[in-house]
Amino acid sequence: MPRDYYEILGVSKSADAAEIKKAYRKLAVKYHPDKNPGDPTAEDKFKELGQAYEALSDPDKRAAYDRYGHDAFSGGMGGGRGGFHDPADIFSQVFGGAFGGGFEEFFGGGGSSRKRSGKQRGSDLRYDMEITLEEAATGVEKELEIERNVPCGKCNATGSKGSGGVKTCSTCGGRGVVGRQAGIFIQQSTCPECRGNGEIVSDPCNECHGEGRVERSTRIKLRIPAGVDTGVRLRSTGNGDAGVRGGPAGDLYAFLHVEDHDVFEREGTTLFCDVPLPFSTAALGGELKVPTLDGKASIKIPTGTQGGTTFRVRDKGMPSLSGGHRGDLNVTVQVEVPTKLNKEQQQKLRAFSESIGDHNSPIHEGFLEKAKRFFEL
Ligand SMILES: [Zn+2]
Ligand SMILES: [Zn+2]
Repeated sequence: MPRDYYEILGVSKSADAAEIKKAYRKLAVKYHPDKNPGDPTAEDKFKELGQAYEALSDPDKRAAYDRYGHDAFSGGMGGGRGGFHDPADIFSQVFGGAFGGGFEEFFGGGGSSRKRSGKQRGSDLRYDMEITLEEAATGVEKELEIERNVPCGKCNATGSKGSGGVKTCSTCGGRGVVGRQAGIFIQQSTCPECRGNGEIVSDPCNECHGEGRVERSTRIKLRIPAGVDTGVRLRSTGNGDAGVRGGPAGDLYAFLHVEDHDVFEREGTTLFCDVPLPFSTAALGGELKVPTLDGKASIKIPTGTQGGTTFRVRDKGMPSLSGGHRGDLNVTVQVEVPTKLNKEQQQKLRAFSESIGDHNSPIHEGFLEKAKRFFEL
């Protein structure tokens, strides 16, 4: 079980963005692997800090974490690491120009993965989706329409009109930052020539303006497994934004919300519903038709059933997300008293009432026993 992110950063749950960043900066410098060579504990701590900062510095991710804890990043059904970036990337991002290259030189570090590959990964995208209880019960395939960056077809994602038009920026040597000596550190700022990209497109594609990707409305098929509930997050790998100039794509996360149902209430895999029961059937016993997600079912009502009695219909609840068993349906009967009786029916009911007297009414008798002293006053 991973540690609490707030605890890792040593901040309170109400900490604002500035406090979180400050806490991260302080600890990340302390545990940077280049500063602690051969110390695996420091490396783990550094990684943990990166994840905690990544989760809490993004308002959406922080909200998801506050609500679902680490489950918010467990990858949902998609599995995996939950889409965290390389801790070294997070570090470079936070320290940016002010510390970046100088820091690497200072510790002899290898730089971030972005600089190693020269390709910037596309963003992860979030899609909020409503589904019905029936869809959650059976699983469903949905086609989503989303606006996202896709590789530019015109330049084949190179960003360049001709061939070989993308060159490493000579001003910064591809690092995206330029530096100036200031005491023991080298003070860094974003390279003015390439604006931090590390690359110059001399002959930019006029479709994507050198980005190698364009925004398009795209359709994505997503298979939603049976048994999902509100709060489940599904990951569709590689269906986020395309990266810059052929960089790897981000992921798409679908956050599910299961709509309320007119008839059934749900608690995990168990379903509940109330069904009216005619009072004659309650007294005499018989069959009662009840609704289920698969259609009608019939339950046996024993003689003398009281209102509020719950009957269990096995295996008519929701399937479990992990597969295997299906939950039950709990049917609670509400005994219904007829409101429109004709003369003849009223007479028969009166005759019935006289014949039964005060006997044979278990709830009434129990109540009288308990309330005796009130009636005797
Ligand atoms: Zn293009
Ligand atoms: Zn540059």
